Amino acid sequence: MRRESLEVNVGNIGIGGDNPIRIQSMTNTPTQDADATAKQIMDLADAGSEIARITVMDNSNAEAVPKIKSILEKEKYAVPLIGDFHFNGHLLLARYPEMAQILDKYRINPGNVGFGDKRDPNFKAIIEKALDNRKPVRIGVNFGSIDQKVYMKLMDENSKKPGKEQKDSEELAAEAMVISALESARLAREYGMPENRIILSAKVSRMAPMVRAYQEIASKTRYPLHLGLTEAGLGTKGIVSSTAALSVLLNQGIGDTIRVSLTPSPTTPRTEEVKVAQQILQSNGLRQFHPTVTSCPGCGRTTSTLFQEIAQEITEYLQKRSPEWKKEGRKGYEDMVVTVMGCVVNGPGESKHANIGLSLPGAGEDPVSPVYIDGKEAAKLRGPERIEKFKQMIDEYVKSRYA
Ligand code: SF4
Repeated sequence: MRRESLEVNVGNIGIGGDNPIRIQSMTNTPTQDADATAKQIMDLADAGSEIARITVMDNSNAEAVPKIKSILEKEKYAVPLIGDFHFNGHLLLARYPEMAQILDKYRINPGNVGFGDKRDPNFKAIIEKALDNRKPVRIGVNFGSIDQKVYMKLMDENSKKPGKEQKDSEELAAEAMVISALESARLAREYGMPENRIILSAKVSRMAPMVRAYQEIASKTRYPLHLGLTEAGLGTKGIVSSTAALSVLLNQGIGDTIRVSLTPSPTTPRTEEVKVAQQILQSNGLRQFHPTVTSCPGCGRTTSTLFQEIAQEITEYLQKRSPEWKKEGRKGYEDMVVTVMGCVVNGPGESKHANIGLSLPGAGEDPVSPVYIDGKEAAKLRGPERIEKFKQMIDEYVKSRYA
């Protein structure tokens, strides 16, 4: 069961309500380089990002927004653009009305909107610009930039409690984030923002406080929630941490849009975060983006690398063919399960449960690979042409099944 939330329209994309859980991403090109930023947005959109966020940190960034938009329009990309503002958003939005009109949503961080007695007027100025331009906002609190006023008040109250009742600093920080998000949403409403133009997020870099903060906010509001484990890190650590944290919440029905904040290695494309986000939703059974390949890990029964090569080639083949099937207007191919198994132990059994499955011979077995289609043996492949024949059979299956 998914938590009930309001629907917020961001450009041409609905978030919350009955909409699918949306995938979004953020560019890491210098925003003032309009060509590079537009190119990366198109790459992210091609990979499956439904919304793209860009940082707008100074005049040169703000001036580039219309150029970025015009490149996207020329290339026929309608992906909504989000402006990420910190410290000076109120000034930039007032100074660059064209940018304020082009952006489809403003991200406001209550911890960075201004300090002391500047905080509320600056926040109000951004909300007023959003109202003038009929734009939604994301009130996005972050562990790294907690609203100090709220945090210090909690620390002070905590220090007066008996030792046993005192909370640790992480618990207090999560609590401060929840208060900050809810209080900012209340203020936005007070300034006139309709409730169906507010999205909330509370990102932390550690799983436990992040989950706690989102659970708390989810139980208290109907605003759609943008989930993310902030600063998840590099490589396997970033992927596993994000998957673990987001999966807990998603399986409790919490979350309307997700972003996976991976630190890319110098050789990793930015689109990696979109692929991981898709895989998180697909593995949790929440959305289907591409056919699933079921392959065993291999063991001593798979003595050659043939099994690994075939599993890899079929996975890549399906990734390549999926956009083409989509263009052909085929429906349902995303749900297809294809198996590539290493030997007779689990190969035939697993293949029979798939739409189409190949079971390779293990060491010492008859060098024949049965192919199963919808549970029935349909062919026996052998020799070096085995992969190409299996690919042809997949194509034929897609053509007849997903017309
Ligand atoms: S299916 Fe066969 S090759 Fe694959 S892991 Fe199991 S026993 Fe090993």
